This record gives sequence, structure tokens and C-alpha cells, in this order.
Amino acid sequence: MERSYVIKPELGKTYPVISHGKGIYLYDKEGKQYIDGCSGAVTALIGHAVDEVVDAMYEQAKSISFAYRSHFSSDAVEQLGKKLAEWAPGSLNWTFFVSSGSEATETAQKIAIQYWQEQGNFTKNRIISRWMSYHGITMGALSMSGHVLRRKRFVPLLEDYPAITGPYPYRKPEGLSLEEYGMQCANELETAILRVGPEQVAAFIAEPVIGATAGAVVPPPGYFQRIREICDKYNVLFIADEVMTGMGRTGKAFGIDHWGVVPDMITIGKGMSAGYTPMAATIVTEEIIEVIQKGSASIMAGHTYSANPQSAAVSLAVLNYIEKNNLIEKSAENGAYLLQRLQGLADELPLVGEARGLGMLCGLEFVKNKQTKETFALSENVSAKVIAKAFEKGLLVYPAVGGIDGVAGDSVILAPPITITQEEIDTLIGILKEAIEAVSQELQ
Ligand code: PLP
Repeated sequence: MERSYVIKPELGKTYPVISHGKGIYLYDKEGKQYIDGCSGAVTALIGHAVDEVVDAMYEQAKSISFAYRSHFSSDAVEQLGKKLAEWAPGSLNWTFFVSSGSEATETAQKIAIQYWQEQGNFTKNRIISRWMSYHGITMGALSMSGHVLRRKRFVPLLEDYPAITGPYPYRKPEGLSLEEYGMQCANELETAILRVGPEQVAAFIAEPVIGATAGAVVPPPGYFQRIREICDKYNVLFIADEVMTGMGRTGKAFGIDHWGVVPDMITIGKGMSAGYTPMAATIVTEEIIEVIQKGSASIMAGHTYSANPQSAAVSLAVLNYIEKNNLIEKSAENGAYLLQRLQGLADELPLVGEARGLGMLCGLEFVKNKQTKETFALSENVSAKVIAKAFEKGLLVYPAVGGIDGVAGDSVILAPPITITQEEIDTLIGILKEAIEAVSQELQ
């Protein structure tokens, strides 16, 4: 092959060239088939080449693809805003559109700070987050993230925000019930707020189910209810980062809906346009908008492609498709089946310490010793080896390694399109099992 001029994730590595996709399958130019076991980056929520979405894209492009949001609104974006207000809980009725999850969380960060400023409070500008969290790659979003591998080079440039422990049931201390452990982790938020002073804290941000740093870690019951109470007590906004968990991925419209908690802001991306075009957003309550409207009346954020009609039409078509085909219910039902099959692997294979997840967002954690739950050293690259082996065998799996050696385990995410059938899940599990067994043998 002639030389490439494209900067790829790993320089020097040759990547297969994609040809096309259909449903849960992708095909490279050599004709090899892959099961998209992780929807790319947990993005292709409804599978590839869905006619309704492609048609909506074409229809929109024929009339208008781009009109700048300072000049025009569009039918597509207005309808999408209305649809999101219907999907979102409580009074989360206003949406600010951007193009990536990082922009969405960084917009939430800015709105939180602005919300307090509009009320004359200029010190409430710190955001508390959790170790084992990922909120994006841009500097503001990275400041709120605990992904050590992605932060490492830039730490001196990042905001020095406080971070608390995220609940990690698989590794909870002995002697505590799951509920007690959840309370202990949630109460760390109160300690962190009191340590820096509530007058300094604008917001707390968390993923309802931890994704990129630990592989689908589900919090204990009661955890988010306690988080909401603490935020209310100290006038701290609660941002649910649903970039990975949103739009039906976990078997409810939003991950946070599993606990009946209403955040002040929800950030979404990935599945909202299911990979058909870049699209993300920050959904905000009536109350926040009222405060800003009475103040400066303008949110100080935005990008060239914010609220562009093309992405809005695509995203609207994706959400309509989910509704029409009852895909949220299917995500819950077939996600439970996927988890059951993964738990079978955890029972059978010495390398798998735990299978976990919610809806169609599942994870496997690999351990050196199942009894002691001893982690592999990051340098052993165990999850990367499983991912490479699965890729070779035609299955895409997503890495979830936060990079805190010896603390967070070595995990992967299984999050196929929510359209996947149980028969297809069986095929996926077969390939995954072969890949894990092959890596186990290599490690001996
Ligand atoms: N927030 C969460 C929870 C994510 O999982 C991600 C990406 O993985 C992001 C934010 C950043 O999104 P993007 O990569 O689209 O900037």
C-alpha cells in the first residue's frame, strides 16, 4: 500500500480500510466481516445503514445542510429540541446543541459557572467529579475527568478540580453491604464540598454508569439519590454525563432514570445521532434558563456547527427510529440476555473476574487471580490483547482502562447496537470466548 498522509491513533500501524456496514456488521475492503460488538465507540446505537436515517439525511441535504445558528433556526432543530424535552425527565426542557461529547460536557461546565454568576455569585466556579470518570478530551472536559492515561501529559495545564471515589462494587471493602458502600461513596461528595467550601462549588458531574475508565460499572442502589440530596443541600448543580449511557443504551431513555433522579443538566452525544453525523448536546432545566434569561440572556458557548440542520435531521430520524421500533425496551431485554451470557463467561473463564452492566452497556473485567481479584499490571496490556484477538476473529470490543495501576482493573466494554438479536448475541459470545481463551493461553 502507498504511504498514508493521515494521522491515525497508532502511528506506524496499518489499519484495515472500511468498505460498508449493515445492521450490526461492518465489512472492510478485503471483504472481512466484523460484528460491531461495541458500536464503534459506543456510538452506532441503532446499527449501520438504516434506510430511514439515510433518507432523512438526503432529504435534509437537498433543502439545507448548514445555516448558522446566529442567523436562523430550522424545523429540524426545533423538532429535535421538542423530542429531547419529551425524552428527558423533570423540567429538562432546553437543549444547547454541539458536535461532540467533550463539547457537551464543557458547555455544561460553562453553563454551571454562568448560572451562579448571573445570580451575583462569582466564586462558585469549581466542578467536582470522580476518579474513574471520563468526560472528554478537550482541556475543560479533561479537567473534570479521572482518565489518568489521557490526563497525564497535560496535568499542569488542567484545572485542579477535586475528585471523589466512584462506587466500584466489584472492589468494595469487605464488611460493608452494597447500600452502605454506596452511601459511603456518595457521602464523599459532602466531605469534598465542605473541604473547598460550598461557596466555591458550581457543580458535580458523574456518568450514571462508568464507561471508558472501568467498563460499565453500575452504582449501588441509593447512590444517586444521596448525591442529589447532597447537591441540593449545598446549592451544587448535578450534571449527569449521559454521552455514553443516553438515548436508550442502558434500557431506559437516560441512565439516571434507573434511579428516578432528576439532574440539573444532562449531556448527550454518541448514540443521539448513532454515528451517522457528529452531534451532541447539553440539556438544561427551565430553572437554569430562567436565571440566565433574566440575566445576560445568552449562553456564552457555541461552535460553528452548533444546531446545524443536517445533524439535527439525522438525530431526529434516529430518535424516531428508536421510538417506532421500541428499541429502548429491546435494549433492556436483550441487554439482560447479553449480561447473562457474559456472566456465563465469567463463571467459566479464569481470566474474567466480573461481568457487569445495565441494558446494552456491559463490561468484563480481567484479573490475574479470581479469588484475590488481583489486577494485571497495565504494562501487560491484557485488555488490549483481548481486543486485538477479537478483532482478528471479526469482533469489535471497546477498551475501558483508566490507567490507575493496581487500583482500577483491566476492562473492556461490550455495547453492540441495541437492534442486536439474541441469536447474534450468541455468535458474539462465541467469538469473544475464543479470543479470551487464546489470550489466556498466551499469558501462561
Ligand atoms: N462523556 C462520556 C461519558 C464519554 O464516554 C465520552 C467519550 O467517550 C465523552 C464524554 C467525550 O465524547 P467525545 O469523544 O464525543 O468528545
